[in-house]
Amino acid sequence: MEGAGIEMLENKIALVTGAGRGIGREIALTLAKNGATVIVNYNGSKDAADEVVSAITQDGGSAEAIQCNVSDYAASETFVKTVLEKYKKVDILVNNAGVTRDNLIMRMSEEDYDAVLDTNLKGTFNMIKHLSRSFIKQRGGKIINITSVSGVLGNAGQANYSASKAGVIGLTKSVARELASRGVNVNAVAPGFIDTDMTKNMTEDAKKEAAGMIPMGRMGSTKDIADMVLFLAGDSANYITGQVMCVDGGMSM
Ligand code: NAP
Repeated sequence: MEGAGIEMLENKIALVTGAGRGIGREIALTLAKNGATVIVNYNGSKDAADEVVSAITQDGGSAEAIQCNVSDYAASETFVKTVLEKYKKVDILVNNAGVTRDNLIMRMSEEDYDAVLDTNLKGTFNMIKHLSRSFIKQRGGKIINITSVSGVLGNAGQANYSASKAGVIGLTKSVARELASRGVNVNAVAPGFIDTDMTKNMTEDAKKEAAGMIPMGRMGSTKDIADMVLFLAGDSANYITGQVMCVDGGMSM
């Protein structure tokens, strides 16, 4: 492990949901590179999560993959109990797990609406709720919720997704107010268009159109998001809470 800022998260336990792939994977690798022990949560992608753990341990870091469907209230409670029994605390919670089921409102099924809200918003609630007692007791910690520029601006074809991500912003601000006096920082990161599985099925035309809406004229990388999460997870962000950090090439300004 090498580079500036290494070990700034030494002795910290980080839990990243949906960390087997995409943005979550990059966040897990970045936090581990900076000294944190990382719980790599996955739902279906066991092999991918195991690969993230291998990459971290081969680099001299520490990590463990644990399965949990975060949209399931009881399962996430058991997940949190398992983590706290073994690691005694969680210093950094990154609620990254998310799904899309895009369609125009006229064609959007109730099932597609519920599925997206269940993972993106209820999943975030479940993890914060089950860890809240531990955060309050330890009088410190960082909660970082991954929302989206769609939750800030809205997006045609994403009523369910935008509603879930706007909900995450409201949840972030409310919990930030509840936990501020306990020294727990709660912030959201709102990525713009990032190159992952979530966006890979966009047609070239759709990608061009999206790039046209981005002042910086290009999609972002998973590293762009992970670097913001790293900042919010560290002591440099101790006086920042209840904020939505847009990492979107200027899209939402
Ligand atoms: P992705 O590549 O599709 O990965 C989604 C991740 O979420 C996977 O690791 C998946 O785990 C996990 N997940 C889904 N449902 C889950 C559940 N019920 N329980 C636990 N984990 C679950 O997506 P991504 O682009 O990296 O997105 C990560 C986050 O960034 C999401 O919250 C997304 O909304 C947000 N975001 C992405 C973009 C973008 O342009 N890519 C833009 C704005 C915001 P399994 O594979 O194990 O199921």
